[in-house]
Amino acid sequence: MSAQSTSSAAPARGNALALAAYVALALVAIFLAATLKFDGYILNILMQAATYTLAVFGLSVVLGLCGQINLAQAAFFGIGAYAVGLGTTDAHMPFWLCLGLGMLVSLIAGAALGASTLRLGGHYLAMVTISFQQILTLVMINAISFTHGPDGVRDIPRPQLFSGQQSYLAFCVAVLAVVGYLVWRLADTRLGRAMRAVRDNELAAGVAGIDVYRTKVTAFALCALLGGLGGGLFAGGFAYVSPDQFSFAESVVFLTMSLLGGVASPIGSAIGTGLLILIPEWLRFLKSVPGLYLAIYGLAVILIVAFMPDGIWGFVSKFFDRERPAPAPGAPLTLAPDDSGGANVLVTDKLSKHFGGLKAVDEVDIAVARGKVHALIGPNGSGKTTTLNVLSGLYSATSGSVSLDGRDITRLPAHKRTEAGLGRTFQNIRLFRTMTALENVVIGAERPGNKLIEGSSRAALEARAMAALDFVGLASRANELVTAFSYGHQRLIEIARALAANPTLLLLDEPAAGLNSTEKQSLHNLLERIAAFGLTILIIDHDMTLVSNAASHITVLNFGRRIADGESMAVLRHPDVVTAYLGAE
Ligand code: ADP
Ligand code: MG
Repeated sequence: MSAQSTSSAAPARGNALALAAYVALALVAIFLAATLKFDGYILNILMQAATYTLAVFGLSVVLGLCGQINLAQAAFFGIGAYAVGLGTTDAHMPFWLCLGLGMLVSLIAGAALGASTLRLGGHYLAMVTISFQQILTLVMINAISFTHGPDGVRDIPRPQLFSGQQSYLAFCVAVLAVVGYLVWRLADTRLGRAMRAVRDNELAAGVAGIDVYRTKVTAFALCALLGGLGGGLFAGGFAYVSPDQFSFAESVVFLTMSLLGGVASPIGSAIGTGLLILIPEWLRFLKSVPGLYLAIYGLAVILIVAFMPDGIWGFVSKFFDRERPAPAPGAPLTLAPDDSGGANVLVTDKLSKHFGGLKAVDEVDIAVARGKVHALIGPNGSGKTTTLNVLSGLYSATSGSVSLDGRDITRLPAHKRTEAGLGRTFQNIRLFRTMTALENVVIGAERPGNKLIEGSSRAALEARAMAALDFVGLASRANELVTAFSYGHQRLIEIARALAANPTLLLLDEPAAGLNSTEKQSLHNLLERIAAFGLTILIIDHDMTLVSNAASHITVLNFGRRIADGESMAVLRHPDVVTAYLGAE
């Protein structure tokens, strides 16, 4: 108990210290912004840096955390800027109202754009955001009666409270500090973890119970919102807005700032924004030679990005990264499989999956009895993995049905099936590669529908994840990145992630594949310990000794069809099965 409390108190104290340092730094920055006597030139640069950084924070959320591209951030920035510009001058509305309206419109536009395109892949998203950007630019230029056209909007007032240039700058710095803190903390919230999971492995995220589409749309909408906020403040800062400030080229600049500084962190956003504002200023003396300036500027950016693929901050922060010690595991793992349904947990009825003319799964009936280990075997290419993919919702069935605990789940998306109680591992391991073992398993533990963690704290989630890691023997390495683990251990982390979710039915796709003989032996023991919980398991495996020892019931597939089904020993002696495995002779 005491070991546990010290280990969880240490990072908490570290966090409190970091927060105190951050607040102190922010206060100093706000104070300096308000009191130092800047000349107009410096003031403009600082104002631009502060407002641009807000927009780049948005990219840090959508691209850095969630892995989605947004080539229209200048458009959202422009929406915020024009809302303040037109709202305060033409409509005579208060600054704050206009700022809020601009953020709201950006948020709605971002959500709508995301919702309509995020089901499609990355290239479509890039194209659609570029189109949106171009359309908005056209509107700003051509809807002259509304936007004033290319002339732009002049004499935009600041709010009364911050009417002076410097007090307004200090206000922007304060906003920046607050938003930066929130973006920084976002990564460690449930939503942030979901975004990172989607970025690392969409399929695995869905199967872990994350609504991939909603997570992406949320990230996109948040990005747009921050763009709108930055733009609104920009309009107040410069008192003038015009269409060329919010063009596609500016969207590319925002993106470059984000990549240059380091897309994964708000600190990187600030560094990248600052640099890309300053580099052109530093190179100003070259402007007399046409083209030279752009060439050097471009080269500088390319060199930095080429040698620091994670951006400047990604490069620098590696030197500070100290791995935290793993928290001590507390209570042992518990599983409480649902036992509300009948004798069978899973029933498929004439389940089929065709790929064009190929019947990968052909009218297969499977009934998995509650609390039992059921094996699905068959030669390579016989449709085992495809069956599992149809069961877990990665493929939709061509025909037939699947029911879990008596409930028809045939049409549910993957994350809803996980919520209903399905858990699985993959034949080719699918972990969230930029996360630690513990974070991977925490994502499993926070599965919606996991009644063992409902309404519990972060500490409880971590405790459950630690228990699962301890169960597979990896608790001491919980805080290491998953890429640091051997193949066999990664497989165990995947199993721990599935167990932490407290599933009703566990689907295992060739867990022994790629393991050496000692690893196989310990996997056998692990499977026995899992089965001892009374958890229902459907396992695919080639290893006949494993199958005949562990499973009480076997279904055999060949060319997508079920060729045998029943009690293990009888099935393994079935002539069709012997033929399928050993050939016709
Ligand atoms: P198993 O897991 O039993 O080795 P699979 O289920 O992976 O077999 O594959 C069954 C058949 O379906 C194979 O012929 C395979 O080539 C085909 N198949 C699997 N997935 C796809 C896909 N996404 N598109 C087309 N064919 C596929
Ligand atoms: Mg397979």
